[in-house]
Amino acid sequence: MYIVCADLEGVFVPEIWINVAKKTGIEKLRLTTRDVPDYDKLMTMRLEILKEHGLLLSDIQAVIADMNPLEGAKDFLDWLRSRVQVIIVSDTFVQFADPLMAKLNRPTLFCNSLVIAQNGAVMDYILRQKDGKRKVAQALKGLNFSVIATGDSYNDITMLKEADAGILFCPPENVIKEFPQFPVVTNYEGLKEKILAAMS
Ligand SMILES: [Mg+2]
Repeated sequence: MYIVCADLEGVFVPEIWINVAKKTGIEKLRLTTRDVPDYDKLMTMRLEILKEHGLLLSDIQAVIADMNPLEGAKDFLDWLRSRVQVIIVSDTFVQFADPLMAKLNRPTLFCNSLVIAQNGAVMDYILRQKDGKRKVAQALKGLNFSVIATGDSYNDITMLKEADAGILFCPPENVIKEFPQFPVVTNYEGLKEKILAAMS
């Protein structure tokens, strides 16, 4: 029995924070898990920037409401979900994800959450658990699934390592160089082939 664990941002939807950076003009919000390997450092910096600029959860949600999945993402995911069980394993937050998940036909999502103040300010973030992506792959293996994992970035690596098959999807050059053990695909057709090969 196979199961696919797939990252969200950079695989099925654009980077949410990059879109927030574009809309607000705050350059430092462009940094993502593709640039900064330490997720806690990255989120702490983001929260400080939001505070500094007085940005509320509703400001970010307004940006997300205008976003769409990457081209072909929904069709690919529909195809994949007709073949095998799929869980989206993301470092995004429940307060961000919903409009994009609706546009993807609502696949199962495991992600994190934000602490929101009464005035709507983003106070903190809560990881569902530490190293959550890896632990999802590990837990599914414990349920006797063969795990196929895909993602684009640093925060996916422990999940890809834990999985029976790990595939990098459109990763940046630095990630390709640092983790040459994983096959790299650059489009959904390539991902389809690699997943089918892993299941055969
Ligand atoms: Mg990603």
